Amino acid sequence: SVDTTSIRATLFPGDGIGPEIAESVKKVFKEADVHIDWDEHYVGTEIDPRTQSFLTWESLESVRRNKIGLKGPMATPIGKGHRSLNLTLRKELNLYANVRPCYSLPGYKTRYDNVDLVTIRENTEGEYSGLEHQVVRGVVESLKIITRQASLRVAEYAFHYAKAHGRERVSAIHKANIMQKTDGLFLKCCREVAEKYPEIKYEEVVIDNCCMMLVKNPALFDVLVMPNLYGDIISDLCAGLIGGLGLTPSCNIGEGGIALAEAVHGSAPDIAGKNMANPTALLLSAVTMLRHLELHDKADRIQDAILKTIAEGKYRTADLGGSSTTTDFTQAICDHL
Ligand code: NAD
Repeated sequence: SVDTTSIRATLFPGDGIGPEIAESVKKVFKEADVHIDWDEHYVGTEIDPRTQSFLTWESLESVRRNKIGLKGPMATPIGKGHRSLNLTLRKELNLYANVRPCYSLPGYKTRYDNVDLVTIRENTEGEYSGLEHQVVRGVVESLKIITRQASLRVAEYAFHYAKAHGRERVSAIHKANIMQKTDGLFLKCCREVAEKYPEIKYEEVVIDNCCMMLVKNPALFDVLVMPNLYGDIISDLCAGLIGGLGLTPSCNIGEGGIALAEAVHGSAPDIAGKNMANPTALLLSAVTMLRHLELHDKADRIQDAILKTIAEGKYRTADLGGSSTTTDFTQAICDHL
């Protein structure tokens, strides 16, 4: 087995339930003998002028240096003059791809039993470029930016991911019949990359048809790659197929090999501090972090223990219809290790 003593990773426990579920990750990692040296960073209480945000420059430097991190939910303080925390991370660390594996959890019944897909969302441009203005009174305009560079980068990542994870097919999701220039360029870039991966099947699916197919039979899909807005919507739709945001992990991939894993849910202020939060999404995000580090044995062991605990049904948190506390559920996972 690999000696992991030297791995240093940044940890943002985050706000609300964040510290409780981060504690759960630390406990499970310890039990599984994963020696990560956590470099912990909290969101500041004052704006750092170097980042124009409550996230300090030192926190960002920590991720740049370690190249690997785990992030709990962050509640962006309301008020003017600062950037959203998630936006700061995305822009400053150039987190260009958001990867969300989505698979049915055995024993946790939803409408589908056979979901096993991955959405890969372009995370830096498209409809979320933030370029909106008023043309004249009553008429506003929003610019959807698609560049060859960002499209090639996310397509490359999608095919690289498919190959590295033994996946068979990549579907590019688009609306190029209407958005001919923007989605047209996105598709052109996907096709170019697809040619370099003849062993991976490539297809193009129009977004509306994709939604219909996903809710009818999610098993039709494998890896999906798409521009920002479509990715935002489709990735949540996929989370819904397997039981919701409390269960789905994600990982953000940035320039220079940075990977920042995060749970997709928010800080859940309604249950914060009550030992009620479900740590599954953050735990499974931590598993994607281990996979990024190629510690697949450890990742498999932890993932199995989480899935077994949920399947067994004896210890489940309230969001999954149970009455266990975060600590009891975490202990049950440790017992399965
Ligand atoms: P939320 O995801 O925090 O909560 C929605 C509902 O889901 C709540 O009822 C909550 O109790 C429940 N929930 C969420 N995660 C859960 C978990 N792990 N276990 C059990 N129940 C869980 O969404 P919200 O209330 O809209 O947002 C709260 C705050 O979180 C806001 O400040 C928002 O900006 C922030 N937020 C941050 C992120 C992020 O950091 N990535 C994402 C979404 C929202």
